[in-house]
Amino acid sequence: MQSNEHANGHLSPGVNTAGQNGAQSDMRNVVIIGSGPSGYTAALYTARANLNPLLIAGSLDISTSRIKGGQLMATSDIENFPGAIETPVDDIASVKGISGPDLMRRMEMQALHFGAEMMEEFVTSVDFCSAPGDYYVVKTESGKEIRTRAVIIATGASAKKLGIEAEARFFGQGGGVSTCATCDGHSYRGKKVAVVGGGDSAMEEASYLARLVDKVYLVHRRDEFRASKIMLKRAQDDPKIEFVLHSTIVDIVGKPHPAAETVAFFKDKEVVKAAVIKDTRSGEMRELEIDGIFVAIGHTPNTDLFKSQLSMDEAGYLVHDRHMRAIPSITCESAEMRRLEHVPGVFVAGDVSDHVYRQAITAAGMGCMAAIEAERYLAERMAEEKGISAESLDISAQSVAQSHWSVERDEMGEKSILERVEQTAAENL
Ligand code: NAP
Repeated sequence: MQSNEHANGHLSPGVNTAGQNGAQSDMRNVVIIGSGPSGYTAALYTARANLNPLLIAGSLDISTSRIKGGQLMATSDIENFPGAIETPVDDIASVKGISGPDLMRRMEMQALHFGAEMMEEFVTSVDFCSAPGDYYVVKTESGKEIRTRAVIIATGASAKKLGIEAEARFFGQGGGVSTCATCDGHSYRGKKVAVVGGGDSAMEEASYLARLVDKVYLVHRRDEFRASKIMLKRAQDDPKIEFVLHSTIVDIVGKPHPAAETVAFFKDKEVVKAAVIKDTRSGEMRELEIDGIFVAIGHTPNTDLFKSQLSMDEAGYLVHDRHMRAIPSITCESAEMRRLEHVPGVFVAGDVSDHVYRQAITAAGMGCMAAIEAERYLAERMAEEKGISAESLDISAQSVAQSHWSVERDEMGEKSILERVEQTAAENL
């Protein structure tokens, strides 16, 4: 964290201090890194709190794991995000989910509507590890340097892929290769699919899919499993699941998309027809006829940027306290930072810290919590700068959360927490 010798770093509600060129004199209240459901929700909440957040969103290139919108950009239909349906609500029979890209576009529009700014860029570095100061410097791929008092990390996780050439051609948007059974499984009702992997994720995906599809082939490269006994047994006992062991998928055979002749967009698009399976002991190859492939070989949290700076669990997921605050790494260069229980002004939300639930809705919930905590942190700092005791104002998480209720805000003239601090400071003059 940097100290504030050269810039006016005083907090001010509703003041948008940074131009998107990130010039040295600019100062942000909050920068959000990552644009999945957690990032967009954090942007929405901090924007409604007049913090003028900057969301650094990633790029529009679908081939990168750092795509703007995150993992849901590769999901065809979402049926389990409450309220995200496109059919009239009074017609229960025809209720239909919306696509992942559509949901992310709606989240983006909502955040922008309330004043969030967006930058389609990648963050290349940020220093959370030097001595505690007043602000952080976030650097981007194009060379921008953005100074900010608070950071919300919402960089998500990336599903591991097989890494074969054909995988990219069939991945997402109905092509037949997916990394999320709960997102895409319903498209395979009555069909045959393969699940790849031998861990809990593969067993869970296989058991889930077996409830929807006719047949699941569990393709695993050896005959020992990382999966827990109970989850393995559940899959083994399921009559719809057949284990294909000592096997890897080395290629995918396609057939024309069912809508290739009627919809121009799908004209040259193919869907999965079969997987080419290689026996890992004999090297023998064969084709397995299936309609879909679910790759469940683990996830990698997108935490490379924060290595040696922030505390992570053994799988690399960020650790946070119950206020969503990041914890300094024991390898931080500053002894002062290492002694702190949390990194001041740095919050964590979504799949980057969650390998258990990994749902859009849980990520969104965490984004909301991180935003409220960031707002509280900024209000406490502002109170301190203006010489007001934080105790004389109610800057609890509950109070900040309550200030987001529309009825409070619109009908009772409630102010954002930062405005409340500002007003108290003016009254005290
Ligand atoms: P995991 O335990 O690391 O298992 C990954 C599996 O994928 C392994 O069987 C591995 O094979 C295989 N694999 C890796 N790379 C591969 C490749 N390139 N080609 C083919 N196969 C490959 O990952 P996970 O199943 O996602 O679980 C991660 C953590 O989350 C675990 O701690 C797990 O218990 C937890 N989890 C829990 C639940 C639950 O409790 N409901 C559900 C899901 C996950 P090898 O074994 O040969 O290396």
